[in-house]
Amino acid sequence: MKHTRFGPYGGVFAPETLMASLEELEDAWRSLWSDLGFRARLSGLLRDYAGRPTALTHAERLSEEFGFELWLKREDLLHTGAHKLNNALGQCLLAQAMGKTRILAETGAGQHGVATATACAKLGLDCVVYMGSVDAQRQRPNVLRMQLMGARVVVVEHGQRTLKDAINEAMRAWVSDPQAHYVLGSALGPHPFPSMVAAFHEVIGQEARAQILEQAGDLPDYAIACVGGGSNAIGLFRAFLEDESVRLVGVEAGGEGIDSGRHAARFAGGSPGVLHGCFTWLLQDDDGQILPTHSVSAGLDYPAVGPEHADLERRQRARYESASDEVALRAFAALSEREGILPALESSHAVGWVMEQAQELQGKRLLVNLSGRGDKDLGTIFALRQEGASDAEVLS
Ligand SMILES: *Cc1c(COP(=O)(O)O)cnc(C)c1O
Repeated sequence: MKHTRFGPYGGVFAPETLMASLEELEDAWRSLWSDLGFRARLSGLLRDYAGRPTALTHAERLSEEFGFELWLKREDLLHTGAHKLNNALGQCLLAQAMGKTRILAETGAGQHGVATATACAKLGLDCVVYMGSVDAQRQRPNVLRMQLMGARVVVVEHGQRTLKDAINEAMRAWVSDPQAHYVLGSALGPHPFPSMVAAFHEVIGQEARAQILEQAGDLPDYAIACVGGGSNAIGLFRAFLEDESVRLVGVEAGGEGIDSGRHAARFAGGSPGVLHGCFTWLLQDDDGQILPTHSVSAGLDYPAVGPEHADLERRQRARYESASDEVALRAFAALSEREGILPALESSHAVGWVMEQAQELQGKRLLVNLSGRGDKDLGTIFALRQEGASDAEVLS
């Protein structure tokens, strides 16, 4: 395999048994991504089924209040409510072209599982989604959504019984099933996944760049996105890599604070190592054991970051900051009240960071990727409000 790394990061740290599948995938990916027929089929699905292009919205009331010029790329308006469908549709179409009949996927909060079940229903593919039992319990509505679209949800009882364990189980199943393709949900894992997933999300930044040039008349000073595995952020960033005047900022989950140890801020609190087939920044102890993570947003609650981000950080082309649970919740409330948009708690971290940095950002044009809508988070918001007056104040 060629070009498996981003600087020192990335690679293919996979068991022998997985290599044949990864090589087959890389070959198919290389030939289909440059195949005009494939690209046209994917563009057609993204336009007529998923709802692209998504809007770019000037957040006028928040801008006025904070003294910056805030633009929101509205991935919350994509079918199923988040950017994840770009990748799920792309990979499922690829799998179909490869002659695969069955799709395997992992899911944490359920968003990637729902997007994959959706793509499979649309394309007529069998779908099996692996989900930790803790997550399946917390995210019952998403389990039902997947089942309603014909997917089989396999509950994983190993380890912490969350996302990391679901990925392990899905990879294991892939090894023993040559008729299956494994749809990984973020820009991580062994090559070719980080490159392929990023490519399927590039459309976000390409649209946003053209839209902001047209609507604002110029490029943004900053492009900002939340970073879980890093797929929505890399989809935005790639379009601006050559625009030296555009600063790129990724916002990780600061949870209850870096010092508390309860967070998912890999750059601030981690070190380089290997997880799920790839060398990157992650949260680990001195023995290399993966540490538990925490975030109010399930989608940012993962111990490793995609390798392309690790390299952008190394090259100082992007910087990585964090926003705490509290800051994200404040942004959730602000965007709901002032703009009439309920953002996903993940996306709220990006908005929260700009609100926190309002001093540094006075007069700047900011492009924030609103990766998803907040309807899925109403249970979390409701529970926090019930916890007591102090939380209720934060949120009201
Ligand atoms: C899954 C998810 C994320 C985090 O994943 P990335 O790969 O980092 O983009 C962010 N926002 C939403 C709405 C999500 O569903």
